[in-house]
Amino acid sequence: AKDAGGNRYELADPDSEARAIDRHSLTNRLPAALERDEFFLEYQPLIRMSDGQVDGAEALVRWRHPVHGRLGPDRFIPLAEHTGLIVPLGRWVLEQAVAQTCTWAGGQPLRVNVNLSPRQLHHPDLVPDTIAVLEAAGVAPSSLCLEVTESALIGADEDELKPLWQLAEIGVDIALDDFGTGYSNLANLRKLPATTLKLDRSFTQGLQRHPADPVDLTFVEGIVSLAHALGLAVTVEGVETESQADQLRDLGCDTAQGWYYARPSSPGEFARDWATAG
Ligand code: C2E
Ligand code: CA
Ligand code: CA
Ligand code: CA
Repeated sequence: AKDAGGNRYELADPDSEARAIDRHSLTNRLPAALERDEFFLEYQPLIRMSDGQVDGAEALVRWRHPVHGRLGPDRFIPLAEHTGLIVPLGRWVLEQAVAQTCTWAGGQPLRVNVNLSPRQLHHPDLVPDTIAVLEAAGVAPSSLCLEVTESALIGADEDELKPLWQLAEIGVDIALDDFGTGYSNLANLRKLPATTLKLDRSFTQGLQRHPADPVDLTFVEGIVSLAHALGLAVTVEGVETESQADQLRDLGCDTAQGWYYARPSSPGEFARDWATAG
């Protein structure tokens, strides 16, 4: 074993083997989990930086697994995306999120952000399903924001973008999630139906250093002015400290999300803490 290379260790790594088995069994369990209502949503507030008021909520899915307990989306969304179960799961998330948030903040419904995976984006039912969900709940399209990752849109041709344009035309907001990580051509921004850029958490982290990473500062400053010139709003993710919040507000960011304001919480907690405030 003395002369064994790095690969040998990797092949025999019991952890990675366990993870592979785990992935397999989690994948197999996904359809039953949907049927048995093992998924649930948490909500994290989006805060308007100008006045600190809540401006909406992002719905984040979790899985209450009968054996493994609570699992975060990073553990199962990629699996669901791979098998295609993300389509019914994503529809369930949309339905739940719209139905839950429209009962909050009496009268004026809270805006809700829902994540869309690439597979949903390319599914022919996206537009009719979304319209049906909004109509069933009696919610205006402008109360919904669909978050699509920048990388899911890279290389998408006109036909592939059509459903998003259709949704944008009826008033649904489209946010480019994890923005700044996908090496997209900034000139292409004009050709996307986006109304909001969500700056990836990595830039927020760069501002936490002392002194703040000058490249991140310059980048955020540049993105904000480009976004505003194009009529897009900027949301920042992963704000964990007051100093980050102050810097990002000074840099002109419109909306913020992060642990500094609130961790994701159950619908009941969210409604109590945020929906009736102000
Ligand atoms: P995302 O869309 O970028 O969501 C933001 C993630 O950052 C969430 O992780 C949130 O809990 C976390 N976060 C929020 N504030 C902070 C902070 O201040 N610091 C740090 N370190 N993290 C913060 P979560 O809930 O684990 O979700 C992970 C990813 O899973 C999401 O990233 C999204 O891509 C995906 N996801 C979640 N729900 C859904 C869903 O319903 N459908 C789809 N397709 N994907 C989903
Ligand atoms: Ca998101
Ligand atoms: Ca994000
Ligand atoms: Ca992310």
